[in-house]
Amino acid sequence: MSIRVPNREGNLNVASPVLSVVIPCYNEEEVLPVTAERLTSMLSQMKAEGLISENSFLLFVDDGSKDKTWQIIGSLAREQPMIHGIKLAHNAGHQNALFAGLMEAKKQADCVISIDADLQDDVDVMREFMQKYKQGFEIVYGVRKSRASDTFFKRTTAEGFYRFMRAMGVQIVFNHADYRLLSRRALEYLEEYRERNLFLRGIIPLLGLKSATVYYDRHERYAGQSKYPLRKMLAFAFEGITSFSVTPIRFVTLMGFSIFIISIAAGLYALWSKLAGRSIGGWTSLMLSIWFIGGINLMSIGLIGEYIGKIYLETKQRPRYLIEERLAPLPQRDTSYDKMGSRS
Ligand code: UDP
Ligand code: MG
Repeated sequence: MSIRVPNREGNLNVASPVLSVVIPCYNEEEVLPVTAERLTSMLSQMKAEGLISENSFLLFVDDGSKDKTWQIIGSLAREQPMIHGIKLAHNAGHQNALFAGLMEAKKQADCVISIDADLQDDVDVMREFMQKYKQGFEIVYGVRKSRASDTFFKRTTAEGFYRFMRAMGVQIVFNHADYRLLSRRALEYLEEYRERNLFLRGIIPLLGLKSATVYYDRHERYAGQSKYPLRKMLAFAFEGITSFSVTPIRFVTLMGFSIFIISIAAGLYALWSKLAGRSIGGWTSLMLSIWFIGGINLMSIGLIGEYIGKIYLETKQRPRYLIEERLAPLPQRDTSYDKMGSRS
């Protein structure tokens, strides 16, 4: 049974908003204690300044980690009531873990800020995020000023990725990763996107809500290794492109068409050569064209298969994630819509 929350059209709770900070974590035992400490103190400061409600909280999402991440979240939560956690049953991937956290936080929060566990993003700009929210912005993008802290390889591939995405016609905010604020309404809209192939950076601009940008410096990872090796990064880029754009398939169609035109010309030339008695046993050219056409065919079929694969996954409508455990029931924020649904 799904519970619909009444949509408070354009009515942001700006006086004392409940903020939830959502942090997806995959094998982050090395940074977690420091991250929790930094975020708790940031939240406490903002509470003291009256920027956010006393009920604001942190929500750690353990994305099926294999190390002690979940145990650490558990012990942090016992010490600090503003820390909450959910554990996914298996490694669902960054985007799905983040989505799980956003949907969980939405039950209690007026706005949510998502941030990585590794402290690469500047925690202090959360204050600016909240100020923008109070001015009525429902989406605030954290955009990094420079990529100086990245390796040359990461920088070039990442920037190439943004350019390529743009060229493919995917609306995407340059140099913005998943550090952003979303209002409750933005989250409700986001929930309507039921696709399995989740690429949040492509979906958020489509929500069409009033948005602002905040710039910050991105640091190096505080500790631990990147959980995005080249293999995952390429898969992510491929996902982004094939989930949002039909340009690649258009390109194949166009290429097929061009080759068709060329082959007509080539055919006429061959015919003319024959009639003029100038034909030569063209074994090489024959072999070449067989290979060439064969290659193009295979590539096109592969690409079409990619889209069919996506349709296949979408039609299965599998759950994106399953929550295995909850640390403590989050405090009820408003029961007016939930009278029927008994929470056990
Ligand atoms: N992450 C996750 N599931 C995964 C991979 C990564 O929840 O399968 C989390 C990770 O713990 C981190 C965030 O996603 O909080 C971003 O990952 P990372 O910092 O390794 O990526 P990078 O900054 O190197 O692109
Ligand atoms: Mg990182």
